[in-house]
Amino acid sequence: MSSSVENVVIVGTGCAGLTAAIYTGRANLQPLVLEGTLPGGQLTTTSEVENFPGFPEGIDGFMLMDNLRKQATKFGTRFEQALVTGVDFSQHPYTLKLGDREIKTRTVIISTGASPRMTGIPGEKELYGGKGVTTCATCDGAFYRKMEVAVIGGGDSAAEEALFLTRFASKVYLVHRRDSLRASKIMADRATSHPKIQMIWDSVPLEVQGVAEGSVSGLKIQNVKSGAESVLPAKGIFVAIGHVPNTKPFAGALDVDESGYLVPTDGSQVKTKFPGVYAAGDCVDHTYRQAITAAGMGCQAAIEAERWLAEHHG
Ligand code: NAP
Repeated sequence: MSSSVENVVIVGTGCAGLTAAIYTGRANLQPLVLEGTLPGGQLTTTSEVENFPGFPEGIDGFMLMDNLRKQATKFGTRFEQALVTGVDFSQHPYTLKLGDREIKTRTVIISTGASPRMTGIPGEKELYGGKGVTTCATCDGAFYRKMEVAVIGGGDSAAEEALFLTRFASKVYLVHRRDSLRASKIMADRATSHPKIQMIWDSVPLEVQGVAEGSVSGLKIQNVKSGAESVLPAKGIFVAIGHVPNTKPFAGALDVDESGYLVPTDGSQVKTKFPGVYAAGDCVDHTYRQAITAAGMGCQAAIEAERWLAEHHG
């Protein structure tokens, strides 16, 4: 175990984490960023980002994250590949457990993101990210102008994605495994009454077709009541069956809601019940879940950490 104590350790390298790194780096705090299994976070799985302010022509998701990383590095950020397996916030400085070693730190910014829940059907993984399977209508919907698309799911996200997609797609199939939506009544009513949305009730997805061609050509489904199989001629498949926040290592120490999202305290979006421990981005925000909102939360957490350190450690 190292005897040195870090000023700030940022866990995660998505928009929230890297923005926090840019801010704390620029404040001369020499942040240490721990990189997990998906360096750059969810945006690296998106082809083009058209709604991040400042890029009128859009920017490749991977390139955007690479830029943020370079910007963070420029201000003295250090990166280490490590997975946090547990924490001890009961004593200060705080302890992050990384398997066989530990890091001591004065402040922590948790920005571990959330992973979209996937169906696991054949073809989904192969055609994910730029080949027709996606989990973000806001990011990718505009690529499906005048095409037929399918949304899988029955919650508010699925209804919202389907409604958003009606702006571009010629037709949106909303495939749900039951005969009524879980979504709130207002969203469900909007989705089911929209002329461009066709409800496909009682149906589970079986296979994303088009692997051989390298892009989605259809979605094979099965009606769970009749057993009948059919293929929807969708060129884009939007999986909207929920997200899984990556908060397991922190769940014992911090408050989480019933879905596993960290719960902020004190009227703040980023403060936790431990002073100097902050949470930013999709691991705490299940409402907006945008790159720019995650970046904004990373900025808030960094400023909070900076102020807390100035107050307590000069
Ligand atoms: P959710 O409410 O958990 O809904 C997930 C949906 O996916 C359910 O309909 C579920 O079916 C279905 N599903 C789960 N696993 C599946 C599988 N393996 N195969 C096929 N279908 C599967 O998730 P969410 O829609 O992402 O919403 C999460 C939270 O955020 C909710 O509290 C929601 O209200 C909130 N939210 C709010 C808004 C808004 O207010 N505008 C927008 C988005 C999200 P079953 O119904 O059969 O379980």
